[in-house]
Amino acid sequence: MKIIHLYSPNYSRKKRSINSIKFIIIHYTGIQSERESIKRLCNPRSKVSSHYLINQKGEIFNLIKDLGVAWHAGKSRWGKYKNLNENSIGIELVNKGHAFGYKKFKKKQILSLIKLSKILVKKYKIKKKYILGHSDIAPLRKIDPGEKFPWKYLASKKLGIWHQYNNVVLKKNRKINILSKKNKKYFFKNLNKIGYCVSGGNKSFLIKTIKAFQRHFRKELINGLLDQECFMIAQDLSKKV
Ligand SMILES: [Zn+2]
Repeated sequence: MKIIHLYSPNYSRKKRSINSIKFIIIHYTGIQSERESIKRLCNPRSKVSSHYLINQKGEIFNLIKDLGVAWHAGKSRWGKYKNLNENSIGIELVNKGHAFGYKKFKKKQILSLIKLSKILVKKYKIKKKYILGHSDIAPLRKIDPGEKFPWKYLASKKLGIWHQYNNVVLKKNRKINILSKKNKKYFFKNLNKIGYCVSGGNKSFLIKTIKAFQRHFRKELINGLLDQECFMIAQDLSKKV
């Protein structure tokens, strides 16, 4: 696989061990152009970076070595892990994002992401449950890579987890609010089991967390409200982690 090497100075000088790499975190760049994205990720004043960037033609750029700690995740949490820069490889996909005209990801871009991820998974023994989006680990601040990201397709390539239900079954349960207090509690327990941080949050925190879950696993309706469909999906996923 062809990888174009660039250099970004935006990484922690302390190296990490191979064993500390547990996650792949997927982002979109969320700015106007590819050129601007690369400039920003390599500019010491921006204080942000990622290990890889994949443009819309599917070309892969490496900005920081895998054993360097890049600055892409920020304040974040997943399961017992906090501030995931230390434990992750960050991959940026060029896409203008919600602020500048969010578009479908290009096929070539996704195919390159799959190729690259497969290599990383093998090299660092990354579990499929630890292939996540930025919004999953930082739901209060982030919405990338967003609902147009093809999580289901990636899961079909053993990258990430997915549920067992088909669309017809799910649609019948959409917007159906038959959740008792007990079931609501059970839903959050499952969300927590999957890895989302749900403890100690106020109402707006929980709504944003539900939205992050929906962006990833139920993109047809992102409203931050709990329904029977979300309940079923979370229950099924909790058995796969
Ligand atoms: Zn991001």
